[in-house]
Amino acid sequence: MSEYETVIGLEVHAELKTKSKCFCSCVNEFGGEPNTHCCPVCVGLPGALPVINKRAVELTIKAGLCMGCDINDIAVFERKNYFYPDLAKAYQISQLVRPICLHGGVTLDSGKFIRLNRIHLEEDAGKLVHKNLAVGTLVDYNRGGVPLIEMVSEADMSSAAEAVEFMTKLRHNLIYANIAECKMQEGGMRADVNVSVRKKGETKLGTKVEMKNINSIKAVERSILYESARQIELLENGGTVKQETRRWDDLKGENYPMRSKENSQDYRYFPDPDILSIKIPRESVEKIRKEIPLLPAERKKKYIEEYNLSNYDAGVLLSEKAYADYFEQCVQLYNKPKGIANWIMSSVLTIIKDEEEKVIRISPKNLTAIIEMLDKKQISQQDSRTLFAKCWEEDIDAKATAEKMGMLSSLSSGDIEKVVDEVLAENPNACEDFKKTPERVLPFFIGQCMKKTKGKADSELVKKLIYEKLK
Ligand SMILES: [Zn+2]
Repeated sequence: MSEYETVIGLEVHAELKTKSKCFCSCVNEFGGEPNTHCCPVCVGLPGALPVINKRAVELTIKAGLCMGCDINDIAVFERKNYFYPDLAKAYQISQLVRPICLHGGVTLDSGKFIRLNRIHLEEDAGKLVHKNLAVGTLVDYNRGGVPLIEMVSEADMSSAAEAVEFMTKLRHNLIYANIAECKMQEGGMRADVNVSVRKKGETKLGTKVEMKNINSIKAVERSILYESARQIELLENGGTVKQETRRWDDLKGENYPMRSKENSQDYRYFPDPDILSIKIPRESVEKIRKEIPLLPAERKKKYIEEYNLSNYDAGVLLSEKAYADYFEQCVQLYNKPKGIANWIMSSVLTIIKDEEEKVIRISPKNLTAIIEMLDKKQISQQDSRTLFAKCWEEDIDAKATAEKMGMLSSLSSGDIEKVVDEVLAENPNACEDFKKTPERVLPFFIGQCMKKTKGKADSELVKKLIYEKLK
């Protein structure tokens, strides 16, 4: 098995975050009663004329700039003809010869660069709803005409893991730059996966099989593992791989032949006579470039180099935009990124990791107030945890609550040191014992210090001082 290598190319589709559809003014919104977000244009009634949504073009350019693409100065829309009920007009408005974006790509953590061939803009199709035998199949055109970008990679990936990382990075860029929401469960991002295998060292590509419309990154991974194993087994048994489209069934973890693969000629592309080609001035491109915020890769660099976070911690914080934004809001309020990251990783994310809706229920103001009070030794470790739990449950003011509950210590670290010195001086025997079995005597010392300070001393600090002094 190991003398084969897998070659993978992805065509990743993402629905753009626009208010209206791509060629009409119908609302671009997920769900809704079937066929209520429709008009003569998006269901393709005769005589209806499409008008391009400027925002959709701008967002496509933005996506291209995020992935390092060249932006064409003239882009053309074509009709891609196919006869299937999810497209009422029997063609999809898409782009073939002059897409908006060309080239570009994404660098994986290993340093490997996965090239993009292009990013083009097209309209989404409607959705077929398969009912029972009596009702048959229904079609909902609410999604028809929603602006969709297709990001076409070169066949540069050689493992399912690389495909997962590539798709995740595309997704993160789109979310961070506010181009698309990429809600996988709503079909907001889907991928067509092309897989072939060949003997290691072979330069010619093997026959490829395409699996269309896979709507989770996990499913992309599983489908690649399955398909490459299927092809290798076929070749090993003296068979040949047929060029075809296969349907991936994620529940069964298998795929089935759907139809023999079509070529672009089969779609009879031709320029859409209803839509003029669009001119993209350089100034507009540069203006859009300025709108792009720091992308995850750049943010990661900043977290590691400026904030001293580990590669792992930076990766976890950036895995969801909400976490990264929360972290940065905290750093704005209290410039101790490392301490804040530790709290987010150990407390915040531990609580929400098993929750479906991952809502952070403590405000940046409260979290940083707790960390700051702790750093300044105004509250003890124990109290910081109590306070955190209270602020998580309800939106109270952390500082005021600490005061009200008598947690705020008026003791400076110097005061605490004085108390520790007293306790040690009063208990010479215990000091001797400590040198032999420190862990047995420590609780006694801490207890004495707490008694003297009426429980206001930070036990962690007391412990540290005792070890320092009796070393
Ligand atoms: Zn419409």
